[in-house]
Amino acid sequence: MKTLVANWKMELGVRESVALARGVLRGLRGVKEVPNVYVAPSHTALTDVAKVLGRSRVMLAAQDMHREAQGAYTGFVSAKQLKEVGAQAVILGHSERRAYAGETDADIGCKLALACEHHLDPIICVGEPSAVREAGEAAGYVSEQLQTILAAADMPKRQRLMIAYEPLWAIGTGVTPTIHDVREVHLLIRSRLKDAGMERARVLYGGSVNAQNIYEFINDDDVDGVLVGGASVRLNSLRELINVVSEIG
Ligand code: PEP
Repeated sequence: MKTLVANWKMELGVRESVALARGVLRGLRGVKEVPNVYVAPSHTALTDVAKVLGRSRVMLAAQDMHREAQGAYTGFVSAKQLKEVGAQAVILGHSERRAYAGETDADIGCKLALACEHHLDPIICVGEPSAVREAGEAAGYVSEQLQTILAAADMPKRQRLMIAYEPLWAIGTGVTPTIHDVREVHLLIRSRLKDAGMERARVLYGGSVNAQNIYEFINDDDVDGVLVGGASVRLNSLRELINVVSEIG
């Protein structure tokens, strides 16, 4: 079964997030083969969206968490606190966190360890800037990012883990890599995962996925799912994306 992660970024308030989550559940009524759908609202909406999702097959993800378990960290949110409000997963190392909050692979590694400890499914984002892609070094760059992150955490072999390959130049730009380019990077990601004994992890693609182009990515055997930002914050578009993922199964 393929996976879709809907990252609602800082786009929606509580009421909008609740309405969108309700719309997703309505759209899935009667669907037998429900894909793995995660919705990731802002922290402020997690509790209310958790209530809407209840025991449905749609899962709740947070967009980030702090690298320490607890302490004097004003304004931050811990893994335990996310678990408390019903999150099942957490996005770690999104490029916007790396760019605007200065997160490093070492930070993300610490977060990964904590997420595992608190039984949150980690969705780790990796991806290269355009200069690295142009230099032909994308796969090596991503592989190194992942190696550093995975080295920081001693993960149980049964840990549910997702790696989202998100080239920086593709996020929110409308530009996407070719499926051939995605495959090349996914292959190296899988090889790093194998080294870490985590070959069961899912490898997703993210970056300007929309209802028009999702099929090309999701239909590929090397792509276990997609992480979608912009095209996931409106109900019609999100439902179209989920429908395509459901059809592929
Ligand atoms: C993202 O938020 O991770 C993302 C891929 O955004 P977009 O789909 O808007 O490019």
